[in-house]
Amino acid sequence: MHSTVICPGSFDPVTLGHIDIITRASKMFDNVIVGVFVNGEKHPAFTIEERISFLERTVGDIPNVRVIGCDGLLAQCAKDLGATAVVRGLRAVSDFEYEFQMALTNRKLNPDLDTVFLASDSSYTYLSSSIVKNVAFHGGDITNFVPACIHDEIFNKIKGVK
Ligand code: ADP
Repeated sequence: MHSTVICPGSFDPVTLGHIDIITRASKMFDNVIVGVFVNGEKHPAFTIEERISFLERTVGDIPNVRVIGCDGLLAQCAKDLGATAVVRGLRAVSDFEYEFQMALTNRKLNPDLDTVFLASDSSYTYLSSSIVKNVAFHGGDITNFVPACIHDEIFNKIKGVK
């Protein structure tokens, strides 16, 4: 049986922590769809097109990974895409309560949809898109947080907001 999973998120912007989860998922499942949700954050720093482009340039060359924009309910998007599981990264206990609630809600809405949690790599447990935006906003070094090929675009846009 072919497995198709979805890695959903805001990816505002993608970090090395996200890339680690997507790469590991691509080794476990036949097809991985990275779903960039428009409605994830009310005021994202990056447009949906920018967020998709960052992901395509960083994980787009993994043969079984596809990046798409998604709108609406994750449970419905997963069904429409033929995904049987949601893959989420877990950084710390603080992530757990929300993730557990979402996993149970999604299964209520779509009983065929399971959630698989991958423990964050220990080198990325502290890392989030918000940290990247905060550090860049204050002119700090984000080299260790985001892929090199999109670093300047992220840094300049966030810094430019100041
Ligand atoms: P959301 O907006 O749904 O919270 P994010 O874009 O912040 O989504 O993250 C998408 C997914 O990546 C989530 O499963 C999140 O837990 C995971 N993730 C985010 N940062 C890291 C990290 N540093 N290590 C592992 N997983 C992470």
